Amino acid sequence: QQETLKKPDWLRIKLATDGNFAEIKDMMRSKTLHTVCEEARCPNIYECWANRTATFMILGDICTRACRFCAVKTGMPTELDLEEPERVAEAAEQMGLQHCVVTSVARDDLKDGGASIFAATVRAIRKRMPFCRVEVLIPDFLGNKEALQIVMDANPDILNHNVETVERLSDRVRAKAKYSRTMELLRRAKEMKPNIPTKSSIMLGVGEEWDEILQTMDDLRANDVNILTLGQYLQPTPNHLPIVRYVHPDEFAKLKEEGLKRGFRHVESAPLVRSSYHAHEQTDSAHAA
Ligand code: SF4
Ligand code: SF4
Repeated sequence: QQETLKKPDWLRIKLATDGNFAEIKDMMRSKTLHTVCEEARCPNIYECWANRTATFMILGDICTRACRFCAVKTGMPTELDLEEPERVAEAAEQMGLQHCVVTSVARDDLKDGGASIFAATVRAIRKRMPFCRVEVLIPDFLGNKEALQIVMDANPDILNHNVETVERLSDRVRAKAKYSRTMELLRRAKEMKPNIPTKSSIMLGVGEEWDEILQTMDDLRANDVNILTLGQYLQPTPNHLPIVRYVHPDEFAKLKEEGLKRGFRHVESAPLVRSSYHAHEQTDSAHAA
């Protein structure tokens, strides 16, 4: 039962606040921008912001889906904000970002799922900050190939799309997504732009078996995915998907080896790893390999 699961020591984190942390938060508010770092109360926020990495959430903060692990609000999204790409670029510049991740809620209400705003955001950041690496963490656009092409044509440094969990649990964990659609998106992205590294993430502790994790790795590699991240699922509220177990750091280390053995160029695997954790180190190794 959920109540009896005690949070292990390795998930207790030290909070070291960076001097300009409050200032950055104020700047985000003044530009009405959302970051996953804040919204998801990500435990890595101090480290990431100090390392000049942040994840912006564009296209509003209300999602048309309701994945059971996710803390983002569900409902009818707000109108499209066409000025948002420019404000994200300004904020990235003010933060002096070296690695900027751009993600969004799923906008199934929009014809292109918001792909054109993703592309505009990549271009706006590039224009202001030619040396900042831009990673996009995209929704599945309901399998819309044209939408994916729009994003790929903006030439992001990394194309990230999360599989989140193993095939057997996919319906339970993220009802409106499909495991096969995720694999198809990753395959298509690589076909469209073979030189852009692709990336995906699996969260652990929701009931997956060891062999199923390895199978998911194999499926990602079969679609030529280059970068893998693995982290512990943490339940945002008691109403969300329960944690089945806390995966030990040694198991994460073993999974990293398994991933590298399978040919991923970079694997981040530890309890507090999130999709964009240590992202600034990933493009380098991806390009170098
Ligand atoms: Fe933000 Fe990602 Fe870092 Fe968390 S891991 S603080 S979401 S950039
Ligand atoms: Fe959360 Fe993304 Fe699922 Fe929306 S689609 S509920 S933002 S994980």
